Amino acid sequence: MPRAVKKRAALARPSSARAEGLAAGKRAADENTDHSTTAASPPAPYGFTGVQKATLDKLARLGITRPFDLVLHLPLRYDDETHVHPISDAPSAQDVLIEGRVVECDVKYRPRRQLVCHIEDGSGVLTLRFLNFYPSLAKQLAPGSLVRAFGEVRHGFFGPEMVHPRVKNVREEAPVAKALTPVYPTTAGLGQETLRRSIERALDECDLTDTLPLSLIAALRLPRFDEAVKFLHRPSPDVQLDDLQAREHPAWRRIKFDELLAQQLSMRMHYSKRKAADAPALRPLRTLTQRLLSSLPFGLTAAQQRALNEVERDLSQPYPMQRLLQGDVGSGKTIVAALAGLQAVENGAQVAIMAPTEILAEQHYRKFSGWLEPIGLTVTWVAGGLRKREKHAALEAIASGQTQVAVGTHALFEDEVQFDNLALAIVDEQHRFGVHQRLALRMKGIRQGRRSQPHQLMMSATPIPRTLAMSYYADLDVSVIDELPPGRTPVATRLVADERRDEVVQRVRDACMTGCQAYWVCPLIEESETLQLKTALETYETVQAAFPELKAGLIHGRLKSDEKSAVMAAFQRGEIQLLVATTVIEVGVDVANASLMVIEHAERMGLSQLHQLRGRVGRGAAHSTCILLYQKPLGPTARERLKIIYENNDGFEVARHDLRIRGPGELLGARQSGVPMLRFADLALDLDILDAARDTAERLLRDEPDAAHAHLARWLGDKHELLKV
Ligand code: ADP
Ligand code: MG
Repeated sequence: MPRAVKKRAALARPSSARAEGLAAGKRAADENTDHSTTAASPPAPYGFTGVQKATLDKLARLGITRPFDLVLHLPLRYDDETHVHPISDAPSAQDVLIEGRVVECDVKYRPRRQLVCHIEDGSGVLTLRFLNFYPSLAKQLAPGSLVRAFGEVRHGFFGPEMVHPRVKNVREEAPVAKALTPVYPTTAGLGQETLRRSIERALDECDLTDTLPLSLIAALRLPRFDEAVKFLHRPSPDVQLDDLQAREHPAWRRIKFDELLAQQLSMRMHYSKRKAADAPALRPLRTLTQRLLSSLPFGLTAAQQRALNEVERDLSQPYPMQRLLQGDVGSGKTIVAALAGLQAVENGAQVAIMAPTEILAEQHYRKFSGWLEPIGLTVTWVAGGLRKREKHAALEAIASGQTQVAVGTHALFEDEVQFDNLALAIVDEQHRFGVHQRLALRMKGIRQGRRSQPHQLMMSATPIPRTLAMSYYADLDVSVIDELPPGRTPVATRLVADERRDEVVQRVRDACMTGCQAYWVCPLIEESETLQLKTALETYETVQAAFPELKAGLIHGRLKSDEKSAVMAAFQRGEIQLLVATTVIEVGVDVANASLMVIEHAERMGLSQLHQLRGRVGRGAAHSTCILLYQKPLGPTARERLKIIYENNDGFEVARHDLRIRGPGELLGARQSGVPMLRFADLALDLDILDAARDTAERLLRDEPDAAHAHLARWLGDKHELLKV
């Protein structure tokens, strides 16, 4: 199978990726026995009545819980067994069918135990090689028997050979397959034959009528649903296998369209439900916001202003805002959040600001206090580490309404935190929080007897490519800050092999001695034998021993919260020159004077993590550098990641590559987001289909709600309820 196809299939559905891996690994053993066990295999699970429990369980593992799911269980790839190729003339780099008579078949023990069989077809001799085999295979391949072998022909040292082909004994002049053979994602113990037959029956018995008006389908130049699924399950032999494998055939486009349409419909429905809920309409009075703006040493960028206007408009509506504020690291999202918060306070309500780590939450607390206390507000800190008495006082201030602004970690979600009048919840680095936590915060505003919900503003510095934002956040509104504040110089990125670590240490020391501040990021704090990562502790000690004149600090997740904040504050004040850190500093940390960053074992980190870390420098006017230390040898993915981060400074570009490499599920933690994984569409490639699906969703909901519901029922069944958040 072409590599690209395999990758895409894996993106589309984790279970199928696993199944494919399994199938590939066990292929020889499974498929060689397939034909001989066919007659004895269990009855097809048609209609799901009279089907063995074990088979049902296996089907359920594939996500098949109703007969129609079989119709939507589409092939991963196809085998072309419609032609017998002569050995001398077999195309390479693809699986082909060869027929020949066995001339020799022996078990060899060098270089390792294997069954080696030679077949001959008049045009040449082909070696079949099996590393794992049942003894029966040697009998099946006894000299003189006529066999068909299906696999890829490779040209080895001893001539053409096939490793682990699928083999089958045939009679003289036996007919070949009339159509391509679909290969389905499966699970251990469920054979291709069983699946094929079940699917065949489902195709004949299920109602495949189109859910969409035929005029609409025609206008989109897509085939009918029944044509599309039948074609994909039973493609005709003259089809271009490449188109089909690459999922670019119109039949595939129809399926992807339908899937994306179901997703869009579902999300648009939730979106309109939200508009029917109540929230406090917060008028933009611009009393406090003006005072804060005039106290700032800078003016907002045009992009910040635009985002703020969007938020302002949403907050003044009587239904809950759910807006995602996206902007690259350092684009200045925090001040926009503060200004949004003031709109709530101006209206006599409260605002909560939540961050995923204590370091970041504390930094927000300091910032917000610095901005808001001078204009007369009370800002309260809530985190897990608070002493009992402090916590009691904080909760009291929040519950009584004496405090207008509460800043903290997920501790803000806890039941004991009761707001007097929460109108806006701000969640920073929202992708770090689970759906349930965000939901809990939203529900906080709904006090007894009051139906109204708080508005929600979510912020993320992991910029999401447009396709993903549209698809995964179709029920959110998105604002984008697409420019950095003036005067920033881009961070220069250097890739340095770990062998030159000493040089780097020396360079960092020299830079620090001339007044610059630096981060040294280590991936783990404890020695792990398997990973052999250098610990932050070790680095810290080494640096201190080697350069006693350098003021070094150490920060990691295991420190107590007051220790952490003391270290961060000292770094902020410039008392620490070199901060040795674990990735706890990854999100949000803002120290403008820091201009040098070293990241150890950069090859182990993901793209967005690297980009986030790098974003900790380059916040002031000074030229900043980020040194990525890597350990050789580099695997292909690590190499690609480092190249991308080296070549791209723009977070949106980095995210686009990340999407391509990892797929949307991993990029967003999609399972956590409550949105079902896409099985067929690929958000990195199918933007045009997504656009069409979105337009169609709007049109259907407006003009043909019945069709919209029928479509949702077909595609999501009872999974529709999962899409609540
Ligand atoms: P992020 O979007 O990554 O959360 P921050 O909100 O932490 O970024 O802002 C990064 C830095 O830029 C902060 O020190 C902030 O005070 C500063 N900043 C924000 N907006 C502007 C602006 N319009 N002009 C100059 N500096 C700004
Ligand atoms: Mg931030």
